[in-house]
Amino acid sequence: MERSLQSNGTNSLQRWTAPSPHSNAIRKNPSRKDHQKVQSSKFSSFLDLEPKSKPEPLDFDVPWFSPADRARFDVIVIGAGPAGLRLAEQVSSRGMRVCCLDPSLLSMWPNNYGVCVDEFESLGLEDCLDKTWPMTCIHINDQKNKYLDRAYGRVGRKELKLKLLSDCAANGVKFHKAKVWKVEHEEFESSIACDDGTELKACLIVDASGFTSSFIEYDKPRNVGYQVAHGILAEVDHHPFDLDKMVLMDWRDSHLGNEPYLRANNLKLPTFLYVMPFDSNLVFLEETSLVSRPMFSYAELKKRMVARLRHLGIRVRTVVEDERSVIPMGGPLPRIPQSVMAIGGNSGIVHPSTGYSVAQSMTLSPFLAETIAECLGSTRMIRGTPLYHRAWNSLWPVERRRSREFYNFGMETLLKLDLNGTRRFFDAFFELNPYYWQGLLSSRLSLGELLLLGVSVFGHASNPSKLDLVRKCPVPLVKMMGNLALEAI
Ligand SMILES: Cc1cc2nc3c(=O)[nH]c(=O)nc-3n(C[C@H](O)[C@H](O)[C@H](O)COP(=O)(O)OP(=O)(O)OC[C@H]3O[C@@H](n4cnc5c(N)ncnc54)[C@H](O)[C@@H]3O)c2cc1C
Repeated sequence: MERSLQSNGTNSLQRWTAPSPHSNAIRKNPSRKDHQKVQSSKFSSFLDLEPKSKPEPLDFDVPWFSPADRARFDVIVIGAGPAGLRLAEQVSSRGMRVCCLDPSLLSMWPNNYGVCVDEFESLGLEDCLDKTWPMTCIHINDQKNKYLDRAYGRVGRKELKLKLLSDCAANGVKFHKAKVWKVEHEEFESSIACDDGTELKACLIVDASGFTSSFIEYDKPRNVGYQVAHGILAEVDHHPFDLDKMVLMDWRDSHLGNEPYLRANNLKLPTFLYVMPFDSNLVFLEETSLVSRPMFSYAELKKRMVARLRHLGIRVRTVVEDERSVIPMGGPLPRIPQSVMAIGGNSGIVHPSTGYSVAQSMTLSPFLAETIAECLGSTRMIRGTPLYHRAWNSLWPVERRRSREFYNFGMETLLKLDLNGTRRFFDAFFELNPYYWQGLLSSRLSLGELLLLGVSVFGHASNPSKLDLVRKCPVPLVKMMGNLALEAI
């Protein structure tokens, strides 16, 4: 009998990805009275402001697992984040008996999620967007802006979580509020042990516990890049942003004119501002390092944000929520296959160039659920190693693995670009046919299309940008070709 053991230790990412204790969801029309306010005493020093709002638990009556139930399921899902709940909903809708565990089961998700509206529309999830902007905008520099005809939305965390929870409940999913501590495997079934002493068994364990997961194994060194960001949902006296446009990236650096040290560093390791304007006095502002390795300094990120807001004349009256974000991106896929299946932040589906994964988790979960149901359904009892093979290959078929090599190549290229190189790159990228740039951002393109896109970006690039790419791309290009060759073997 094959028997292996994985335990959930704390890894170094945990301290970075832990949500701010002050984070909280807001509703469609957030009532200012709901948030205890702290008034700003100094112009621009929003860092002194403590968000006082407390995370509200969701008021929802889930079907709890009871020790009297048979503690054996078809599928156990570890984690009730967006990915875990979506998978639990999809697998249970196919008649599987599912249990989902999370120590923070009825807490609001802490992160502020953005997606492209068409991604959620194609999934029938548009009701779960609590705010949309018809256009997105990119400030390449002080002279040049790009306006993209693609609507952007902020995910209604409460709406999406309640929708997934109620669909799960309707399909008979059982929930348990506990942290999974240990996973063990036998030939045809696996078991988990929780921190409250509960033990459960299932044919398949799916780990959806996010970036901090320690149940998923890798057989290559994890040379990930990191997206680092500091965001605040703020009440402000006024701000300069158009209410019908969200700002995907503001690469302007005029705010660093009087800060020679910060400016010089920003030229080498640039950061941008991401903005969701809700109304003339309420705005989400996030200073972001798109990708860095080693991890970009969080202290410097905040200093740059203070300088930027001061320059933009934004006086923060109240910090409603704050958000600290570190997203590991790219690097190798988990070992395929392995006895624990993964979905979400720990499964390799985080976009290596953008850090996004919510729409992908929503999109790919049905495919994985279908495969699991085919294997464990009444007619075909495929368990153990063949089940793990099929599950992993449905999430990562060869074609998707190859495309991911290209996305990794994109990330490695971005890592090498300074501020001017990054500006030139995005200037050329967003000149492409929308089919290509939208497809790349939404992970929809085949490898052939991605290669065409690569050639096309090069074709649209200015001469300095071409030179930049020729000088900086060969190593990532060779690495990608090597990995593609290995995939083909
Ligand atoms: C601040 C921030 C902002 C982001 N913004 C965006 C965005 O705008 N758009 C986008 O597409 N992506 C975004 N991402 C990236 C990514 O989509 C999110 O990290 C997303 O939350 C990943 O979803 P998930 O379900 O995989 O994991 P998580 O949301 O991290 O959920 C994991 C769940 O597992 C539970 N858990 C952990 N360990 C255990 C255990 N041992 N046992 C049981 N349960 C456990 C946790 O309590 C948690 O509820 C953002 C990430 C961060 C950190």
